[in-house]
Amino acid sequence: MNCEKCGKKAVIVLQHGSLCKHHFIDHFESKVFKTINRFQLIGRNEKICVAASGGKDSLTVLYLTKKYLQENNIPLQNLFALVVDEGIQNYREHTIVDLERFCKDHAIILQKVKTEDEFGATLDKAYPLINKDEHKKPCNVCGVWRRYLLNKYARKYGAETLVTGHNLDDEAQAIMMNIFKANTKIAARLGPKSGIQEHDLFVQRVKPLYLCSDKEVRLYTLLKGFTIQFAECPYSSAGYRHQIQEMLNDFEEKYTGTKQGIVNSFLALLPALKETAPKAVETIKQCSLCQEPAEHDVCNACSMKEILKNAL
Ligand code: SF4
Ligand SMILES: [Zn+2]
Ligand SMILES: [Zn+2]
Repeated sequence: MNCEKCGKKAVIVLQHGSLCKHHFIDHFESKVFKTINRFQLIGRNEKICVAASGGKDSLTVLYLTKKYLQENNIPLQNLFALVVDEGIQNYREHTIVDLERFCKDHAIILQKVKTEDEFGATLDKAYPLINKDEHKKPCNVCGVWRRYLLNKYARKYGAETLVTGHNLDDEAQAIMMNIFKANTKIAARLGPKSGIQEHDLFVQRVKPLYLCSDKEVRLYTLLKGFTIQFAECPYSSAGYRHQIQEMLNDFEEKYTGTKQGIVNSFLALLPALKETAPKAVETIKQCSLCQEPAEHDVCNACSMKEILKNAL
């Protein structure tokens, strides 16, 4: 296969044709920058926090957010990275080493927050104790605490925008999960710019890799020479999401463009979904224990913390 643009050896076959290394990098970066512009993900005078883990998606989005700021003459002091150390042994400590090296090499400020410091135990230790009472899988606990810490500390460090590395595959999975569970309220919060309505306590989440597939991100990081271990979280196969992921990968192999089709259909429906969803701002309260945003009197993160406290 040769590149459709220059005839050199192709490194990837996309739906519209094959591309060489140079033209793929070009195509990928311009897709990300077009996504940022099309959905107005990054503003000129905003302080930007990139939720980073050291994995391929977060390093790619961190690198390209910095490049976007540079190309648009937006001051780089507006940018910092934030990592949550959940305390997942033989996994997170390695990705954090990759992330620290990356931030040092690219002169990006890195802030760190530990689940253990905030909730009293690492995820490894906490989830079996929380499970006893609530039958929660590790990903349920991890997801609730991670979202909580990212929002709280991004806000604490002054960010107005929280950039995440969610890619097309992640979004297609989330859309299908919410459809399977008939969860239109949660589905309305998806999209390249998450959430239904602005709220002082929430930092706006944005997804510049929204239209980039997992395969494209993986290839981009390899071609750019980012040093990553491509490690998988030991809990990743335990979740519902993993089963949806396998199903979608299977479909994609048989019918190319399935994931893109799911996301495109969802984007067409999203304005109507956001319009009809109950406005979050009307239902958001402040948690009586931590003062962070909550749907009920006590937020989900604190509820889990309380169960853990009683079990320790
Ligand atoms: S796979 Fe689950 S436990 Fe592992 S980092 Fe992701 S959400 Fe957390
Ligand atoms: Zn080429
Ligand atoms: Zn709380």
